[in-house]
Amino acid sequence: MTIHNDVVAAIGNTPLIKLKHASEATGCTILGKAEFMNPGQSVKDRAGKWMILEAEKRGDLKPGGLVVEATAGNTGIGLAVVAAARGYRTLIVIPETQSQEKKDTLRLCGAELVEVPALPFSNPNNYAHVGRRLADELRKTEPNGVLFADQWNNLDNAKAHYESTGPEIWDQTGGKVDGFICAVGTGGTLAGTSRYLKEKNKDIVTACADPHGFAMYEWFKNGVVKSTPGDSITEGIGIGRVTPVIETAKVDDAFLVSDEDAVNTIYDLLQHEGLCLGGSTGVNVAGAVQLAKQLGPGHTIVTILCDSGNRYQSKLYNPEFMRSKNLPVPAWLERRSGIKP
Ligand code: PMP
Repeated sequence: MTIHNDVVAAIGNTPLIKLKHASEATGCTILGKAEFMNPGQSVKDRAGKWMILEAEKRGDLKPGGLVVEATAGNTGIGLAVVAAARGYRTLIVIPETQSQEKKDTLRLCGAELVEVPALPFSNPNNYAHVGRRLADELRKTEPNGVLFADQWNNLDNAKAHYESTGPEIWDQTGGKVDGFICAVGTGGTLAGTSRYLKEKNKDIVTACADPHGFAMYEWFKNGVVKSTPGDSITEGIGIGRVTPVIETAKVDDAFLVSDEDAVNTIYDLLQHEGLCLGGSTGVNVAGAVQLAKQLGPGHTIVTILCDSGNRYQSKLYNPEFMRSKNLPVPAWLERRSGIKP
């Protein structure tokens, strides 16, 4: 056991957990990187840590400075955790459709929140554009300066995974890894991890798991930027464009995952393996099963357990919400949630 000097040092070095059901169903060893065990309870703590520490090294952040970011929530929480520990403030622009739990956590972590309507990237009032404009405005008045973290374009986001997630997976498996798969929000996780693993062994099959309604499936499968039909309730993943971060990914293949498959997967993980996780983890594990079936029995595949399910209690784990989306609600969830059918 180690004593960490602060919370920032406690980010990363998460365990790999063997996923029993997914492994048995495929004859492979499917391992989940337990990113929900980070201090801010998600994989985005790593991006928060790297974007702030690298900015410090470049002299782009001064004591008492303000960190501004547009985020579906988890990046904001990661930034707020690191900022609190290192003496910065945070201002977060978030689409109002994101879960109440994430917004409440952000406020508790000390972030100032600006909620905006959920609009497509092509709209000038999309949250990413509002975030950038706000940062530019505030730069004129903030006495200690402003850092716009800019996770879609900031290569420190992918560097976090090139320097931590990738090496950890390699070391933890002793290099015995045949496949790596995860979904894309900004693509930081997939880009940094895939690049590291491919450099270690080019035969490792790297893949993207994409929900319906986004462009990553077609991009990694066929090299075209074209969204698949449909939509998804999964928060934090799904993108319709290729960013500088995504361009650094080294990815061989892609798999489409339906919401029904993703949701059944997280319910299964909770009911049978004691893992209460968010929707993007369902996409990742269901994608890992597809990759395992393609590779055949005997292979080891790693994916990401992105965040904790308590961040989605009012949505994924709320039978009423799930019924309103025409998604499956198992009888045990009705009982456990305390809401009568
Ligand atoms: N899962 C969740 C719940 C997220 O919030 C995010 C980031 N938005 C991701 C997965 C994807 O991470 P990345 O930005 O590294 O692609």
